Amino acid sequence: MKFHLLTIFPAFFDGPFQHGVVARGAQFGSLELKVHDLRKYTHDLHRTVDDRPFGGGEGMLLKPEPLFDAVEDIWPERTPQRRVILLSASGRKFTQQVARELLQYEELLFICGRYEGVDERVAEHLADEELSIGDYVLSGGELAAAVIVDSVARLLPGVVGNADSTVNESFEDGLLDCPQWTRPAEFRGWKVPEVLLGGNHAEIKKWRKQAAREKTARFRPDLLA
Ligand code: SAH
Repeated sequence: MKFHLLTIFPAFFDGPFQHGVVARGAQFGSLELKVHDLRKYTHDLHRTVDDRPFGGGEGMLLKPEPLFDAVEDIWPERTPQRRVILLSASGRKFTQQVARELLQYEELLFICGRYEGVDERVAEHLADEELSIGDYVLSGGELAAAVIVDSVARLLPGVVGNADSTVNESFEDGLLDCPQWTRPAEFRGWKVPEVLLGGNHAEIKKWRKQAAREKTARFRPDLLA
């Protein structure tokens, strides 16, 4: 899968994509990451990407022309396997299910907003959809795009070493992940549940399911409803 990131801060992604499974996935060819500098698509001396909102109000908006030019240059042709996603606080809420849904595309292009946001024509006529990573306001779409790329990338075949580890996880079956422990079996007097120390795999499986249910009921009852 190929991920495109359109941003006024290309260096922003140096950090998030240079570590762990995303970096390894890119290194071994399970995924491709391409960061595009929006300013490359400006045509004036000052490389202007923003302008004041019509009707007044604070702040600036990303102008439509460089965004349309950039997307049309990156993808001269739009196909059903290519999806343009505008990061936006007013978008559809991103969840693990949406991450799985995005696996159907061959390429994703993320438009990272800045300032007070983006000219509405981008949402209406350029993006296929708007996604939000939660009910709070970020100063830019870059962090949100990195969150989405990370969670989609780790679902791609070969990116996370053991495919099962992305199946038995929080939200995959409507439950949170079950609590887990590692050695030592006793630490400062706190003991690991006895059942996990024995080798009875059927018992362990049953115990984990129950523990996941209890944890979900306690912390995220909305998931059970
Ligand atoms: N005025 C806007 C916020 C603009 S924040 C509003 O009130 O909704 C600047 C940019 O950050 C946005 O264009 C968007 O790309 C990004 N952003 C902010 N919050 C986000 C969120 N919760 N999810 C995804 N992107 C977000």
